[in-house]
Amino acid sequence: MTECQMLIDGAWTAAASGRTFLSRNPTTGEDWAILPDADAADVDRAVRAADAAFHAAAWHRTTATARGKLLRRLGDLVAANAAELAELETRDNGKLIRETRGQLAYLPEFFYYAAGLADKLEGSTLPIDKPDMLVFTVPAPVGVVAAIIPWNSPLYLTAIKLAPALAAGNTLVVKPSEHASASILRFAALVKEAGFPDGVVNVVTGLGGGAGAALTSHPLVRRVAFTGGPQTARHVIRATAENFAKLSLELGGKSANIVFDDADLEGAVNGAVAGIYAASGQSCVAGSRLLVQAGIYDRFVAALTARIARIRIGDPLDTASDMGPMATAQQLEIVETMMARAVEQGAVVLAGGRRPEGRDGWFYEPTLIACDDATLDIVQNEVFGPVAALLRFDDEAEALELANGTSYALAAGIWTKDIARGHRLARDVHAGIVWVNTYRAISAMAPIGGYGVSGYGREGGIQSVLDYTELKTVWINLSEDPMGDPFMMR
Ligand code: NAP
Repeated sequence: MTECQMLIDGAWTAAASGRTFLSRNPTTGEDWAILPDADAADVDRAVRAADAAFHAAAWHRTTATARGKLLRRLGDLVAANAAELAELETRDNGKLIRETRGQLAYLPEFFYYAAGLADKLEGSTLPIDKPDMLVFTVPAPVGVVAAIIPWNSPLYLTAIKLAPALAAGNTLVVKPSEHASASILRFAALVKEAGFPDGVVNVVTGLGGGAGAALTSHPLVRRVAFTGGPQTARHVIRATAENFAKLSLELGGKSANIVFDDADLEGAVNGAVAGIYAASGQSCVAGSRLLVQAGIYDRFVAALTARIARIRIGDPLDTASDMGPMATAQQLEIVETMMARAVEQGAVVLAGGRRPEGRDGWFYEPTLIACDDATLDIVQNEVFGPVAALLRFDDEAEALELANGTSYALAAGIWTKDIARGHRLARDVHAGIVWVNTYRAISAMAPIGGYGVSGYGREGGIQSVLDYTELKTVWINLSEDPMGDPFMMR
């Protein structure tokens, strides 16, 4: 059993109460790590440490260039320790080692990109319509940022928040999911090693309803960056009604992967597989609705089911595996319940639809389910598992209507050789990210996020750093007369 401690004010610590909780390995279903169960008192200590660090000269007076250098060093340390971090994450959440290695190989880019932006956050001098006034704006850091992280890609979703927040000069308290905290604690040790002052980055481990709720409602928290499900997001919105923290919400999706008759068949099949079976469908951008045009439908379904039959389910630490387990027993139960309901409502299972035989752990087969009716629960609601709901359409107008027919708006994939149609759909589909003839491509330079039930705010790209700042407007009176008539607006 691995014993972990959390990081508060630069010190490794247990929960003040002494309470702990266990993290289970989804591949075996066995407990493998023991972690501190932080409560409101621990969270208060972490937030106060972050607030003190924010105001201390060691961080507050640090130049933006120096912050960039620290971030670059952190990126180098992540690169040097990528293998260990990837293995920890796979053990914790069951994601394929191929996927976690790939994510870790790219992760340093988030720190290098943010490092490059740190000393390029410029304000402007305003051509103001008042004589004798010099007015300029300054993007100022917000203060303490609470980062709430889900279990599916802990390090990636931490990096995409932490790197821009630090580049802008903020301090953080990170709360990982109770199901996947270990890789973030190891990462926290690298933050320390990189030389960030104590208290600039703190990590509290604990349960969502305890540590998470205490953190998002804490009066000293100025900004909350949340990734998770819409139901939890509602709690977070209510919590920030108390402290008025600025909020970004990266929630789930029911993203449409739309295949037109003229699509490259092999590319579209691989895009469908990447969209829904990679990461066992536990991806916010999962292409969980497959919309396929009538002319290619039969050929596409035959090619996809043949490809599904070749997917190798297995130990996520084995590089030969294509699909690992669901990250939690609860998530497996959700998948099974939603599938049972889909079948009850008349959907037809074309592939999968059950746990694979002869395996411990929380595995579920790659599943394809034909749905005639777009109002079915399985078509409308996020499963967060390897289940693709298949729908047929006749023309572009119907494809668009189906694509826009849920309350989510996170991502969409379009498969066509017709460039004009690709652009039309990209323009009209309700989604924060649109991929044409590709799927699940990400970059530190490109914003990610959605609208509707998929949340609000963007992570990645230049804007993400500015989202961790407040624009300050400074007025300097250049005249000899300091105020004039005090009862008149100037
Ligand atoms: P979740 O249950 O909403 O949990 C997300 C985080 O919130 C966890 O750290 C959780 O802690 C914490 N939390 C729970 N209750 C809380 C509360 N009352 N106050 C504050 N924090 C609280 O989501 P999940 O099951 O971990 O992840 C799956 C969801 O995340 C899916 O809907 C998926 O689509 C979404 N997601 C979105 C993106 C994106 O970028 N758009 C990326 C990945 C995942 P505990 O785990 O300890 O309860």
